Amino acid sequence: MLQSRQDPTIDDRRILVIEDSRTFSLALRQFLEAQTGLPVTTCGSLKELSEIIVAAPAAYAIAVVDLNLPDAPRGEALDWTVTHGIPSVVFTATFDLTTRGRIMEREVIDYVLKDNELALPNLVNTVKRALNNRNTRILVVDDTRTTRKVLARMLAIQQYAVVEAGSGQEALTILEANPDIQLVVSDYYMPDMDGFELARRIRRLHPHVRLLGISSSTDRKTSAGFLKAGAHDFVSRPFVLEELQCRIASNVETLTQLRQLQDLAARDFLTGLFNRRHFFERGRTLVDEAREMGLPVSIAILDIDHFKRLNDRYGHDGGDRALATVARGLSASAERGFNLLARIGGEEFAILFPGAELAEATRLCDDIREAIAREPLVVDNETLALTVSLGVAQIGAGDELDACLCVADRALYLAKQNGRNRVCADACEPRPTASQ
Ligand code: GH3
Ligand code: MG
Ligand code: MG
Repeated sequence: MLQSRQDPTIDDRRILVIEDSRTFSLALRQFLEAQTGLPVTTCGSLKELSEIIVAAPAAYAIAVVDLNLPDAPRGEALDWTVTHGIPSVVFTATFDLTTRGRIMEREVIDYVLKDNELALPNLVNTVKRALNNRNTRILVVDDTRTTRKVLARMLAIQQYAVVEAGSGQEALTILEANPDIQLVVSDYYMPDMDGFELARRIRRLHPHVRLLGISSSTDRKTSAGFLKAGAHDFVSRPFVLEELQCRIASNVETLTQLRQLQDLAARDFLTGLFNRRHFFERGRTLVDEAREMGLPVSIAILDIDHFKRLNDRYGHDGGDRALATVARGLSASAERGFNLLARIGGEEFAILFPGAELAEATRLCDDIREAIAREPLVVDNETLALTVSLGVAQIGAGDELDACLCVADRALYLAKQNGRNRVCADACEPRPTASQ
């Protein structure tokens, strides 16, 4: 068997659809291109398929294969795609035990039945999930090499990025070194640490990792023990492959949804920047980390000049557009290194500069001010000059973040008083700018 040519960094490949019904084929092409962004190549016979594969075997990220083609009635097309290392999803109208056997003995990602009105969306979701799985790392923990390898292979066919551990301790070491691991599938019986203990430790040390227990024990209390110890799910061995696949997929999906919710809760809807709550939460961690390393940290507050006038003249929509423009300029000029940006109020933004002392942060703020002044704002076909003022303060040892933001706010007040479109640092005279 050839290895599948998966590479998460390659996203310029195509999707191959092998389907003799033109109606299905066209609909699939449209859905898949719209929802994955990848181009689709279609073909309707084994003859056509063999020519396509021979011409460019590595061009396809995934294939959708109809089991019955006029010149290939017994899944021969699937043999072609699988043996050429193209990850394959089967799309079939007929389904019985023999067909299932024929599909499962080949290494396919999944099969989708054509027999209902949800067939097309199901198939598109399966393809999307498989493409996405390449970015999902799963750790398989089992002291028995052969069972571990079988499971790892099965997950690799599903396109997951798989890591293996032969003991509980090794699993913890790997998790520590690989914070991008999202799911652990763990055996129960292991000599150094059983699955329950591993589950407890993972919950304590890596609370965002999902955990699925697996065991051949006939004692039904094993599943309860796993769940009580903090596992999210459990599967008995020997497992039905589809059940395990579905449970893993649903855990990964839950994780994705959780992340999307967390991201939504941390961001400001209008500008896409982080919001005030996230700024303080993440900011405190960044300040602590910088202090531990003996590095300085500075904080700045940015406020749009005469924003109310702009709102009054061009309406709330014009004002919103100005906010988005400033946010874009701010991201382009300030979002580097560990800098943290956020929209913390109506037309106020905050920036945290870990590693920068007052003088350097003041210089950076002046660059930001200039960059925003250069960014054109077009409202009602008029190009407007939009300027901002900034106040900067350095966070001293033992200072609270919100108290420092108030100090920066006082400096901002001075910048406004001294003519706007300028940067003023805490406890210093306002710095005149070239344009004033
Ligand atoms: P200064 O130069 O002194 O900062 O004056 P300013 O007019 O910019 O400041 P002021 O605080 O007087 O007015 C801010 C205005 O921002 C008032 C408020 O209606 C508007 N605002 C707050 N949030 C939003 C928003 O989300 N969208 C829009 N369009 N306007 C907003
Ligand atoms: Mg303002
Ligand atoms: Mg204001």
